[in-house]
Amino acid sequence: MKAVRYHGPELPFALEEVPKPVAGAGEVLVEVKAAALCHTELHFADGTLNLGVKPITMGHEAAGVIVAVGEGVPAERVGERVIVYYYVGCGDCRWCAAGEEALCDKLQAEFGFISDGGLAQFLKAPARNTVPLPDKLSFEAAAPIGCGVTTAVHAVRLAGVTPGDWAAVYGVNGVGFGLVQLLKHRGAKVIAITRSEARRAKAKELGAEVVIDATDATTVAAAVRAATGGAGCDIIFECVGRRETMDACVGWAGALGKRGRLVMVGYTAGDAHEFRYHPIPMVVYEQRVLGSVGASLGDLKEAVELVASGAVSTVVDSVIPLADFQQGLDKIKACDCLGKVVCLPCA
Ligand SMILES: [Zn+2]
Ligand SMILES: [Zn+2]
Repeated sequence: MKAVRYHGPELPFALEEVPKPVAGAGEVLVEVKAAALCHTELHFADGTLNLGVKPITMGHEAAGVIVAVGEGVPAERVGERVIVYYYVGCGDCRWCAAGEEALCDKLQAEFGFISDGGLAQFLKAPARNTVPLPDKLSFEAAAPIGCGVTTAVHAVRLAGVTPGDWAAVYGVNGVGFGLVQLLKHRGAKVIAITRSEARRAKAKELGAEVVIDATDATTVAAAVRAATGGAGCDIIFECVGRRETMDACVGWAGALGKRGRLVMVGYTAGDAHEFRYHPIPMVVYEQRVLGSVGASLGDLKEAVELVASGAVSTVVDSVIPLADFQQGLDKIKACDCLGKVVCLPCA
């Protein structure tokens, strides 16, 4: 079968022929119908993320149909439309016990990170990692739930949102569009901050109360303060993670207000983009800074429900054949996309 393979940092991904996986005990084989590309792939390509496992098949946002089951999995599951949860925890550490497999101490697999992922024609996964998809959701629309919407669900859960909160999303695309809609759904007043005019327009359409042009990051904090009556935000989701975007959030006159929570979702490689914050304003304003990684299986189930109910929709920029994956990644790198780029392995 065809798969997009990673061979190590700073090496190009390659579409290669690899053996079709076989579902083992407790596993299912999914024929991938749609798989979304993510900024994460760029992090692998440039070495920002180097987990040391290679070669592997990339892709952690896959939706498809179960075509075979391994021992112990009911045969009735064949034919089921599913989306795949990409963490496979050990099942017995404290984090797995709490349903937080993304923090597992002995991760068994992580599709598209340390084990073969979904940018391929087939993907095998433990049966419990496959979440049924309602028939009304197309595979193309569903695939970006796997990371885009799910990461938003997780980050919002960690941050805690109260109706009426001012919540900013700094950096709006895959996860950002999910955040905007989810925050709106939870009753927050949403501020979308991005350099892209098209993304600002889309964020507005999806429910953002205020949109701010981030072309000059040094103007962002004042714009947020102005929009919030001087108070600053109750929550900011930092999806960019550059020095200038983080700087805009913090400090005496930063975009984050008193008791504000700064949630780190995105990051950028290099010492130049380390987070720096003097504790004095943080202490005086009683602010909190937290990181958010991936999602739990429960978050994915919730994300599927949110999309199925229409509360959140995935934003798809384009749908391309898997063979054109590099063009898709180039679009993401150039920020030349409105939403997710989705690949069709069977096109
Ligand atoms: Zn575990
Ligand atoms: Zn992702």
